[in-house]
Amino acid sequence: MAAKKYEVIVDSKEKLAESVINVRLKLKDKGFSFRPGQFVVVYHDEKGGTQKREYSIASSPNNKGYIELCVKVLEEGHVSRFLDSAKKGDEFVIEGPYGDFGVAIPPKRDVCLIATGTGIAPMRSILHAILESGTERKVMLFFGFRFETDYLYQAEFEELAEQHDNFVLVATASRTEDPSWDKERGRVNELLRNYLKGDEDMDILLCGNKRMTEDVTKALLDIGFDAKDIQKTGWG
Ligand SMILES: Cc1cc2nc3c(=O)[nH]c(=O)nc-3n(C[C@H](O)[C@H](O)[C@H](O)COP(=O)(O)OP(=O)(O)OC[C@H]3O[C@@H](n4cnc5c(N)ncnc54)[C@H](O)[C@@H]3O)c2cc1C
Repeated sequence: MAAKKYEVIVDSKEKLAESVINVRLKLKDKGFSFRPGQFVVVYHDEKGGTQKREYSIASSPNNKGYIELCVKVLEEGHVSRFLDSAKKGDEFVIEGPYGDFGVAIPPKRDVCLIATGTGIAPMRSILHAILESGTERKVMLFFGFRFETDYLYQAEFEELAEQHDNFVLVATASRTEDPSWDKERGRVNELLRNYLKGDEDMDILLCGNKRMTEDVTKALLDIGFDAKDIQKTGWG
């Protein structure tokens, strides 16, 4: 479907962690559809002109009529602060969908999703789409963040892991000092070897900042995976 502009209405906004929000946007035009992993461009008109920024769609494509964004609110950030200050009923324009990141739904192979921080946004959409497709293929999600309070969508992911035997969830906090934290510790690239042998036949998708995608790619190649099976996207 060709990308075009759509008017959206802010439906709700939820704080997920310090400086991270989930924004639900209702689409006035019900004809909007997207593939999980794609992004939209948010338009924000301000005094100096129109600011445009890309945001991955964080919700399932099966949720008709709305999309969700997972946004890190940056100090002095033009569009992330605009989204943070938006109120229910506010209207603005998005453009899209754009991007080729993602896998076929239902997936043709097992899928391994590896994300850090707000890099979880496209992975949440892909994860829901895969599980909702009813496939029996395995889907793994490695999610890295700094402190346990940065574990975005924790309750939702843990519930999905309980409901789906084919979903393996691995969460790791790199800087926690909380002795009661009972999940993984350290950076995501450091623990992949404990879960993967390198000969699995699967699509591997990465989303994080440049350093993360470089370090994780290196770790995957060292374990024995082939570069052609790895897709990357990210920002920051
Ligand atoms: C394909 C794609 C998907 C993306 N998906 C997401 C997503 O799902 N979630 C997400 O949070 N982000 C995502 N991003 C990043 C997003 O597009 C924005 O870049 C991000 O939100 C920052 O935009 P902003 O307008 O808030 O900040 P900007 O106004 O662009 O500012 C960026 C930084 O520069 C600093 N800055 C701004 N103005 C000045 C100035 N005059 N002098 C000095 N410093 C200044 C700000 O403090 C801030 O730290 C994605 C990017 C891409 C390319």
